[in-house]
Amino acid sequence: MFKGRCRLCGNESELRNSHFIPQAAYKRVRGHSPNPHPIVVHGSKVIQTAAQTRAHVLCQDCEQRLSTNGENAFFRNCYSGPGQFRLLEILRSQPPVLEDDRFAVHVIHGSEAAAVEQMGYMGLSVLWKSAAHSWSDRSGTLPSISLGSPYQEQVRQYLLGNGPFPEHGAMILEVSDENNRLIAVTGTPTTSKWPTHYLHCIDICGIRFNLLLGGRMPMHFKELSVFRPGPKCVLIAKRQEAMLAQTYREHLEALAGSRRDHTIERSL
Ligand SMILES: [Zn+2]
Repeated sequence: MFKGRCRLCGNESELRNSHFIPQAAYKRVRGHSPNPHPIVVHGSKVIQTAAQTRAHVLCQDCEQRLSTNGENAFFRNCYSGPGQFRLLEILRSQPPVLEDDRFAVHVIHGSEAAAVEQMGYMGLSVLWKSAAHSWSDRSGTLPSISLGSPYQEQVRQYLLGNGPFPEHGAMILEVSDENNRLIAVTGTPTTSKWPTHYLHCIDICGIRFNLLLGGRMPMHFKELSVFRPGPKCVLIAKRQEAMLAQTYREHLEALAGSRRDHTIERSL
């Protein structure tokens, strides 16, 4: 038994030997690859590894909370092998509101929108875990991120169900299609600094979670956040380079452009 203070709820309790990224993510990628080990991205290095990073960080209740509120929906909908990607099928069941050769933007309504929000919760929990603890595996300490002190606490309260998602934040989901090499990648978090905010990212089973935090973040990013009430905007990335920050910025600026904005507004 390992007693200590749970990083999420703060209670002194027996701590579980938690995975940094739920084990199911590695099983899915490994199960369909000719290489027996999943691709794991450590910062800028792409390596083949079976490393499954674990640490005594969460109590049983909080592990269960993360499963119920996010991981269950995530693993029902994420990439599970060739031809098995429920979220991508859902997105394609209706025409995009905006599309070019690099990306498409879809809007999801109703019960599927709730599942998308739960998937966003799962991505948020992994990024929060990266910032809450220095995780290690057999190859050494994994790159970690910092959300900044006010955001780290706000995100913790949100994950606990005790507070709203940060006012100056957005969680934007990008889904890889079959031509995007990132569809089979499970990565480690990275952070990039933008003029108006910080962008924290991680790729897990075909989905890139983009957490944007900053008081000067433009409003149109918030409109794409899956934690916004109502229908959810989700992006499909058709090529890996569509997911790089510069291209991402261009297309979001296009989205926010006055001529196209009414298309998105109407769909929302
Ligand atoms: Zn706890």
